[in-house]
Amino acid sequence: MIDGLDTQDVRELKGVGDAMAEKLAKLHLHTVQDLLFHLPIRYQDRTRVVPIGQLRFGDEAVIEGQVTGSEIKMGKRRSLLCRIKDHTGTLNLRFFHFSAAQKKQFQSGKRIRCFGEIRRGSTGFEIYHPEYKVIGDDEAHEDSAQLTPIYPLTEGLTQTKIRQLCEQALERLTPYNLKEWLPESIRAEFSLPPLADAIHFLHHPERDANLDTLKAGHHPAQYRLSFEELMAHQLSLIGKRLHAKKDVAITVSEAGCLSNALLNNLPFSPTGAQQRVFQEILADLNTGHPMLRLVQGDVGSGKTLVAALAAASVVQAGYQVAIMAPTEILAEQHYINFSQWFEPLGLKVAWMIGKLKGKQRETELASIASGEAQIIVGTHALFQDTVEFDRLALAIVDEQHRFGVHQRMALREKGMKHGFQPHQLIMTATPIPRTLAMSAYADLDCSIIDELPPGRTPINTVVVSDQRRQEVIERVKNSCEQGKQAYWVCTLIEESEALQCQAAEDTAILLQEQLEGLSIGLVHGRLKAQEKADIMARFKAGEIQLLVATTVIEVGVDVPNSSLMVIENPERLGLAQLHQLRGRVGRGETASYCVLLYKSPLGQQGKERLSTMRETNDGFKIAEKDLELRGPGELLGTRQTGLWEFKVADLQRDKNLLEDVQRAATLLHAHYPDAVSPLLSRWLPNHDQYLNV
Ligand code: ADP
Ligand code: MG
Repeated sequence: MIDGLDTQDVRELKGVGDAMAEKLAKLHLHTVQDLLFHLPIRYQDRTRVVPIGQLRFGDEAVIEGQVTGSEIKMGKRRSLLCRIKDHTGTLNLRFFHFSAAQKKQFQSGKRIRCFGEIRRGSTGFEIYHPEYKVIGDDEAHEDSAQLTPIYPLTEGLTQTKIRQLCEQALERLTPYNLKEWLPESIRAEFSLPPLADAIHFLHHPERDANLDTLKAGHHPAQYRLSFEELMAHQLSLIGKRLHAKKDVAITVSEAGCLSNALLNNLPFSPTGAQQRVFQEILADLNTGHPMLRLVQGDVGSGKTLVAALAAASVVQAGYQVAIMAPTEILAEQHYINFSQWFEPLGLKVAWMIGKLKGKQRETELASIASGEAQIIVGTHALFQDTVEFDRLALAIVDEQHRFGVHQRMALREKGMKHGFQPHQLIMTATPIPRTLAMSAYADLDCSIIDELPPGRTPINTVVVSDQRRQEVIERVKNSCEQGKQAYWVCTLIEESEALQCQAAEDTAILLQEQLEGLSIGLVHGRLKAQEKADIMARFKAGEIQLLVATTVIEVGVDVPNSSLMVIENPERLGLAQLHQLRGRVGRGETASYCVLLYKSPLGQQGKERLSTMRETNDGFKIAEKDLELRGPGELLGTRQTGLWEFKVADLQRDKNLLEDVQRAATLLHAHYPDAVSPLLSRWLPNHDQYLNV
């Protein structure tokens, strides 16, 4: 049995003692294998001397030339300028810090070899502070065959040192201690080079390697490693899903009369898409194993009704259902909806949020524990230890991020006391592009509500500079005078919640001054739950005409009479978030408007983003654009990115691989099961901790 490189401590290498090992640990480098996966961030081409005439702006290159003169320039910053030439052109070396000795070195006629990045100076190409050496007339450059790797570093670690260490790691690499787990057939199908070749190449690309491709991260060798890592993640999700599916859950064999009664009481009938998704859910509930289903649908597609239908079926079978929302406002909204829908049918809906205290809390807890309440709506507070369910069989989560591991465990325990697992229905607040969803949610089955209820009028979005703020205020006034309602959303990101609330407060005061006679309400995250609920209720009842809010109203708030939304500083928000916000209007029959009141001037990317909002109302298209512009981390929310820390892959850069990765993972899982566990330990050493969740 040969020890794998993953069990060889870095201290086994020459030149690594405890102190160095500690530094390496800061880069998560503990084993020899870690060093092999510690890839250069870029490369320098020092393999040959480049004629000055062939230099391109931005290149890093070795240049040799003869000094034709040097002088001290005064300008904005004093600098030493040394001009060199070869037979193809001239180039300036510029030093902002220099010694007298240095100045003396650059005598006309001396030969210099230097290395650095080519910049555009006032008099042609320049290099600032090049590495350089004065050389003899016949001293030739030792051409080398390989590019020079530049590694990520940490304090106290030099490029020379890390290169030596990676070098030693490469010398140890054999087919036995770093196994190839991707079978020939899969490698061939997806054009992946062997693992060892890819690693050797990436630490030492030959000098003819395409630097541009490498820089973009699109070289086959880079793909090979990212591919394997992404596959490991995919396999872990597939494993989690299969594992979870082995558990026992209660069986619901038919929709039952409760859901029919619910539908009969509604003023509308479900869309085809809502019916289809409900049937998919019913099929899951009938398997005897926990459902793990994600429902995606654009803003306003009617996810809540689908959730309610699922809830009705589970309650009908004699069990409890919990609905969890990400914010108190949304929880409140669901509480109102579910109460209105279910209380006429003789059911009790309970309510649980963190801020609920005293007697009221006791009462709610008691009715949850006794089973008196069949439907329980709340926030994350539902996961608290003090919340004991009687017979929880379905957990519905309405959110933009997913359960954390601990929450899943808590949930599992809450169900397990009766010997079964709750079914899980997860509803995303924002659509996720298909490729990303396949990777991020591979442990879930996915349903899409791809149809909006009839009679919606599309929202007209306009993009307006804040220099025209006054006109926008006029417009709000006119709209409210016609009996419609409006939102004014204040945004501030990366600032404290306190500042954000302050901004909304200030805006509300200013608007009230300018809009005398209009009834203006203010809602933000720092209000007490009761205050928030009161304001929302008054807005819903039409007593408040203009609601000034922070982005707390982003998710789920539903007031059909509001047909105008002004969003301040929309350039600060992600597109998905803007779309979500905008979805608060356009819920009724009247034509709706969204005014994106940006702070001018707007950069190129900002313009592009806001015009996407103007051009389309399709949440999936917007999500694609957001993915392109901001990357998957932003889209999926950071809360669950624990699952998204990669050693070599980069979801944004590698997103074109995702479909293949998905297919390859499924193949490997089916035909080469022995490879699964080693791949997981290679890339996700902590994966066991997720497996039982
Ligand atoms: P979202 O998918 O954004 O959560 P909601 O569930 O809040 O959407 O539904 C948005 C609005 O559409 C609500 O007012 C809801 O009552 C209404 N609605 C849902 N389904 C239908 C339907 N089939 N026909 C008409 N209106 C519907
Ligand atoms: Mg919703």
